[in-house]
Amino acid sequence: MSNSLSNNGSFRMPLLAGNWKMHKTVKESLSLVEQLKKDCREVKDREILVCPPFPSIVAVKESLQGSNIKLGAQNLFWEISGAFTGEVSGPMLKEAGCDYCIIGHSERRQYFGETDQSVQKQIQEGTKDLKEEEARRLVIAYEPVWAIGTGKTASPDQAQEMHAFIRKNLTALYGKETAEQIRILYGGSIKPDNIDSLMAKPDIDGGLVGGASLKSEDFTRIVKYVAYAKI
Ligand code: PEP
Repeated sequence: MSNSLSNNGSFRMPLLAGNWKMHKTVKESLSLVEQLKKDCREVKDREILVCPPFPSIVAVKESLQGSNIKLGAQNLFWEISGAFTGEVSGPMLKEAGCDYCIIGHSERRQYFGETDQSVQKQIQEGTKDLKEEEARRLVIAYEPVWAIGTGKTASPDQAQEMHAFIRKNLTALYGKETAEQIRILYGGSIKPDNIDSLMAKPDIDGGLVGGASLKSEDFTRIVKYVAYAKI
């Protein structure tokens, strides 16, 4: 698969992740995943992820059993349990069936006061305490804030430049072999008509999709992006 290979030939499974934000009731979430399961059922060579709001997590997990779609949450608190009204922890999400969790989204900073300190700092600080095998499981999303929900997208070349820069930083932290295995997603107004050219770039390993993940037709087209050779 040309789309899964970076320039130097290392394999990174493409990941297309839908961040539903504060959209969809439980009933609406189920209706969307039922449709996605049908529309994406033959997809094998890419990882598909949906991140619904907390109330939908358990019902969506049940609906996704046996499908090729994974489940993620949109946020967590770093403590395991305790008197932290309104928060949820990693072990709670894991037991509820989540494979992934988004942390440090720019909307958390903009509306809820999260800082580099609270989500751990950006690349250098945020990843410095991870062991290499943990770092390999990390997925980083590069999302220019001006592109989130605005309809403006970074050009494939702009995005590639930033992704390469991020990978260079990861190489300095973890060495080339590990850095080559970490997936870096682009996010910011991904749509059916711009995903193909973004995914053609060597360091773009997938997308974090907001608005366009709320309609099965659009998200399915994004998941089924046309894989050109990486250039
Ligand atoms: C996002 O939620 O991270 C995002 C990129 O949103 P949108 O695709 O709507 O710009």
